[in-house]
Amino acid sequence: MRILVTGGAGYIGSHTVLVLLQSGYDVVVFDNLCNSSRKSIERVSSIVERQVNFVEGDIRNPEELGSVFSKYHIDAVIHFAGLKAVGESVQKPAEYYDVNVGGTAKLLLAMQKANVSRMVFSSSATVYGVEAPTPYVESLPRGSTSNPYATSKAMIEKMLEDQSIAHPDWSIALLRYFNPIGAHESGLIGEDPLGIPNNLMPFMAQVAVGRRDRLAVFGGDYPTPDGTCRRDYLHVMDLAEGHVKALESLYKSGCCAYNLGTGSPVSVLEMISAFESETGVKIPYKIAPRREGDLAEFWADPLKANQLLGWSAKRSLNQMMADTWRWQSQNPDGYN
Ligand code: NAD
Ligand code: UDP
Repeated sequence: MRILVTGGAGYIGSHTVLVLLQSGYDVVVFDNLCNSSRKSIERVSSIVERQVNFVEGDIRNPEELGSVFSKYHIDAVIHFAGLKAVGESVQKPAEYYDVNVGGTAKLLLAMQKANVSRMVFSSSATVYGVEAPTPYVESLPRGSTSNPYATSKAMIEKMLEDQSIAHPDWSIALLRYFNPIGAHESGLIGEDPLGIPNNLMPFMAQVAVGRRDRLAVFGGDYPTPDGTCRRDYLHVMDLAEGHVKALESLYKSGCCAYNLGTGSPVSVLEMISAFESETGVKIPYKIAPRREGDLAEFWADPLKANQLLGWSAKRSLNQMMADTWRWQSQNPDGYN
């Protein structure tokens, strides 16, 4: 079975490509490299000791997409390609809707033309909106989103639901990720954000490796046990394995959403102390003002993915820290 992986050179995509290849799938990666490096795919190749098909192209370009579908027989698509920085999406809404929503519509048209009707989509816990009670469960409606990135994910989910209603032979899994962190245990691939990291884990890892002076902990006065925000962090390899489970579920038609998270919340201060105790490296930090738009806490109810996909997150927080540190310390400047 051959899978087209859009955005496959990126953080989650590269780990998923690795797991797909190790599970016996053929893969074609399609990525415009706007937020990634070809080196991630070269490293995946070296781990699996196999060439990986790579096509540089943009999901908004029907010719580039069309030529991939004509060159390769594709059985299903895993769609990671998109822009993902919440803050940037507030500054550049048109770009975010163009790439995320417009790009996905172009991808659906190309799939239709090529008679490919199975897709796994990278959605996000952010579609539950700002008022949903935690833990988030899939039966909740999509909520009111607070930034263009989140709205683009909710719009794409709706588009994919409409597509599956109009075409009952289509099968789509909407995977709502919580907070993926960590890296492959080889230390060869990992998260390599451009510029100053927005997310907690890569920022902390860059402080640890000496690229940044100290971590700002955004808010110490939240109504949580230690006053800092709590999130559901899961290992990127568990997340990657979730995609293979979701692919296996696509023999039945329809559009189905699944939470991929551990079900356990962890605070920012607990993240710092887990990193320090696992690696022995101190993280200088300071409590700073709250970051606009942050929710105090949310985590997954992962029961549906447990029961219907046979998936659960297996790797511990300590392993997430150890693997992050292996990647960051072996590659202080990422893929550069
Ligand atoms: P990433 O930026 O590392 O990967 C996205 C990839 O898509 C990059 O390689 C980028 O070059 C590519 N891309 C972007 N625009 C493209 C276009 N127009 N055409 C072709 N390729 C394009 O991000 P990631 O963390 O690996 O996230 C992957 C997906 O998962 C994204 O859709 C993201 O919104 C979603 N997601 C991520 C998280 C997270 O915390 N990392 C959480 C929830 C959902
Ligand atoms: N956070 C922080 N300092 C940082 C980055 C993030 O204290 O430099 C906090 C942030 O306020 C949130 C948590 O860490 O409570 C996770 O943030 P991240 O951006 O990684 O994920 P998201 O907010 O998208 O869940």
